[in-house]
Amino acid sequence: MKPLEFAQKYPDEESCITKLRELREREIRVCPRCGHKEWYWKSDKLSYECKKCRHRESIRKGTVMENSKLPFLYWFMTMHLLTTTKKTFSAIELQRQLGHKRYQPVWEMLHKLNGLCDKLNSQGSGERKFDRLLLASVGHVTDFKHRVYNKRLGLA
Ligand SMILES: [Zn+2]
Repeated sequence: MKPLEFAQKYPDEESCITKLRELREREIRVCPRCGHKEWYWKSDKLSYECKKCRHRESIRKGTVMENSKLPFLYWFMTMHLLTTTKKTFSAIELQRQLGHKRYQPVWEMLHKLNGLCDKLNSQGSGERKFDRLLLASVGHVTDFKHRVYNKRLGLA
């Protein structure tokens, strides 16, 4: 994806959330508390709520972003950079580009995404690198349910 195309597609946090929802809502997720499969979207909490028992799960749960508090836009931008930059770049450089105060969360994000890139590259890279990385980021968890999901998307 070209820089301009990225900027148009993902100009802000909201557009990233919309895309994430689109991907997450393709999954069939079973409520861990009651076994129900239908969820409400709670935009103020960025979470899904089970329609039956009200159990809540963050949209980050089960994704590569699960333990991160960084904005989704940071994750998307980093995925974009990783799939368009030929040379590797350091977490310090990334931190500078994002203008983020703390180094550690940026380092962790880059480390996780680099790991996913390695996995994808060893499977032969396709045309739509960004989309593939994004899909891997959302469905990266290796429990059985997600493995089936990833298989369907051709990632596992
Ligand atoms: Zn439930």
